[in-house]
Amino acid sequence: MFEDFAYARPESVAQAAQLLQDETAHALAGGSDLLGCLRERIFPVKTIVSLSSLKELRGIARTAEGGLSLGALTTLAEVAGSTEVQTLYPGLAQAAAEVASPQLRNQGTLGGNLCQKTRCWYYRGDFDCLRKGGASCLAVHGENHLHCIFGGDACYMVHPSDTAPMLQALQATVWVAGPAGDRSLPLEQLFMPPAQDPTRETTLQPGELVTHIHLPPPMAGQQTSYRKVRARRSWDFALAGVALAVIIEDEIVTSCRMVLSGAAPFPWQATQAEALLTGAALTRERVRAAASAAMQGAEPLTHNAYKIELFKGIIQEELARLVRE
Ligand SMILES: Cc1cc2nc3c(=O)[nH]c(=O)nc-3n(C[C@H](O)[C@H](O)[C@H](O)COP(=O)(O)OP(=O)(O)OC[C@H]3O[C@@H](n4cnc5c(N)ncnc54)[C@H](O)[C@@H]3O)c2cc1C
Repeated sequence: MFEDFAYARPESVAQAAQLLQDETAHALAGGSDLLGCLRERIFPVKTIVSLSSLKELRGIARTAEGGLSLGALTTLAEVAGSTEVQTLYPGLAQAAAEVASPQLRNQGTLGGNLCQKTRCWYYRGDFDCLRKGGASCLAVHGENHLHCIFGGDACYMVHPSDTAPMLQALQATVWVAGPAGDRSLPLEQLFMPPAQDPTRETTLQPGELVTHIHLPPPMAGQQTSYRKVRARRSWDFALAGVALAVIIEDEIVTSCRMVLSGAAPFPWQATQAEALLTGAALTRERVRAAASAAMQGAEPLTHNAYKIELFKGIIQEELARLVRE
């Protein structure tokens, strides 16, 4: 059952920002994540701030530079179905289409997808885990087969979003509005590393909300893709996923961004693999070497070492699709 809460539907972004300054006030977009948290009483919610009247946060538009601006309230179904997204950034359309089920993609928004809470069962369950103010991360000595293999300092969750790794590969910028005005930041800076603060998922300050995500114009010859592996064929979160944005000119990789989902508490940029691929021909040997490089430094927990081979496999498969022999 829900606890009692107040409901506000501000008519402007400024009003929303004012209401969200109270840390027990939470933005409501599609509600597909927040309402579950409320029902399970995972954190205290005194006020729900519905963003539904903020029409300026909806839709997809071309930017002056030739990229796209995606409103935070654009639904995942709209992102996946947009002809412009499919044409300019097919990997993003793929990533949005991989989220959950058709019903959830019709309801869930892009902003909510980036700001959702972790699905870690210790966090979601009736446990006093570190993220909820407890003494330690219970996954370390517990059921950890879905947890992270990189970046797990203090809390070992994985970031649940499918669109975030693809947006990071595309070098997206997040626009945020708040009591101090608007600001923008590279998408990777939106996510709070647990080593810095394990109780918060984002770096948003009190009163701030995501308004838009900007994508730079695609570079000539850029190929993008998102591959997700889940435990079952119906809706599920990523066990492992790889977002790629690659440019190949005269058979040489001139640019490569590789970002993993299901790997870390935030989208994990596989910088060693990127460095190994960039400036070289994409041969089958190099594809294998890049998959190994992407897993260098992995620190699996007791039950999730399988992810290393899983990642190597999907990275190889995705890169192999780009090899011309
Ligand atoms: C059964 C099920 C399966 C799912 N499967 C997947 C999956 O496979 N992949 C995946 O990525 N996700 C999945 N999700 C998670 C979720 O439904 C989606 O990520 C969805 O996009 C969340 O968007 P929303 O608009 O419904 O968010 P909401 O529930 O409205 O909000 C989520 C969080 O973000 C905050 N928030 C929302 N909008 C903003 C904003 N503009 N600025 C700042 N904060 C904001 C809210 O306060 C809340 O904390 C699943 C959820 C369920 C219930």
